[in-house]
Amino acid sequence: MLSVLRSGWLTTGEVTLQFEREFAARAGVEHALAVNSATAGLHLCLEAAGVRENAKVATSPYTFAATAEVIRYLGADPLFVDIDEASYNLSPERLEHAFRNDPSIAAVIPVHVGGLPCRMQAILDLASAHGAMVIEDAAHCLPHEGQEQAPGTLGAMGVYSFYATKPITTGEGGMVVTRDGELARRMSMMRLHGIDRNVWNRYTSRDASWYYEVREPGFKYNLTDLASSLGRVQLRKSEGFFLARERVARMYLGGLQGLDYLKLPANDPAHSWHLFQIRLVLPRLTVDRDRFVDALTERGIGVSVHFIPLHIMPYYRRTYGLKEQDYPVAMQCYLETISLPIYPDLGDEQVERIIAAIKELGTRFYKKR
Ligand SMILES: *Cc1c(COP(=O)(O)O)cnc(C)c1O
Repeated sequence: MLSVLRSGWLTTGEVTLQFEREFAARAGVEHALAVNSATAGLHLCLEAAGVRENAKVATSPYTFAATAEVIRYLGADPLFVDIDEASYNLSPERLEHAFRNDPSIAAVIPVHVGGLPCRMQAILDLASAHGAMVIEDAAHCLPHEGQEQAPGTLGAMGVYSFYATKPITTGEGGMVVTRDGELARRMSMMRLHGIDRNVWNRYTSRDASWYYEVREPGFKYNLTDLASSLGRVQLRKSEGFFLARERVARMYLGGLQGLDYLKLPANDPAHSWHLFQIRLVLPRLTVDRDRFVDALTERGIGVSVHFIPLHIMPYYRRTYGLKEQDYPVAMQCYLETISLPIYPDLGDEQVERIIAAIKELGTRFYKKR
């Protein structure tokens, strides 16, 4: 960080190139492009995928605003596809149904919710059968050292987020990965004003480093060297961050097992444990999710809810005439889910205290039959 400041080169330069090379090596892909947010990265991916006005892009309603808004940036329309109840992830069966209804779907954006991988093989098979490109929203993931089949590296393109709360952070930032050189070239150009700098030698034999051409009206999505220097350090520490989160997850899984008023997340070895989501079995309780959250908050436990489905947001309701029950699984998951605190610095005693509080409330609110 200081060395970047001292170098005087604050915007995108050598440090960002190094960060990209290190990230590509970590993910086991040919190309990594640093961007100033995952939202920007998703936009670049859709643009490179050829998604244009009135195209349809299938995605999950169970995600953050960014996943669907980028579809609208291009004048295309999101086609929400309901999720699997057990994973909160896009359901391949529902996706198959969506393709049957509309074979013109141009792209699919599966979201690995909380870091739990989607059923990618089924999604990839369906998409390729219909000539649709798969862009993974891997904002909650980070590839491990030597990991094969890491979420984010399986589709045509994948996007990671370095927002403050994500597995690693540069304050704001993101990374797009792909194995496809053509897509990488397109995104690299669109990332910085649609400028192509590799053209001068066609017009002059001199080393005209000042020469460039604007090929398209591009965007301003590059990541600074300041952010990349943070990112390089974070990437080196990421395995430690992950192990600390996984340890918290294991404590929750052990401490909360066997309670009939709770459903615990799938214990998938490829889970990044960005989120630890529990589900309340509401018929066994005298309170709803909101009251349970309030009671935890009163005990000083900072829980959250992921996600409020996009199909019930005013914009999507208004624009596409969507109703709550159009996506019943997403709706039910939303009404039952609570995200427990999970971060590397969360100590054992705090985790024990959270487990104890949940059990105490579970007993207090238990519905006698
Ligand atoms: C955070 C997030 C994004 C956007 O990431 P930014 O880097 O903040 O743009 C996209 N998708 C999901 C699922 C996210 O949680």
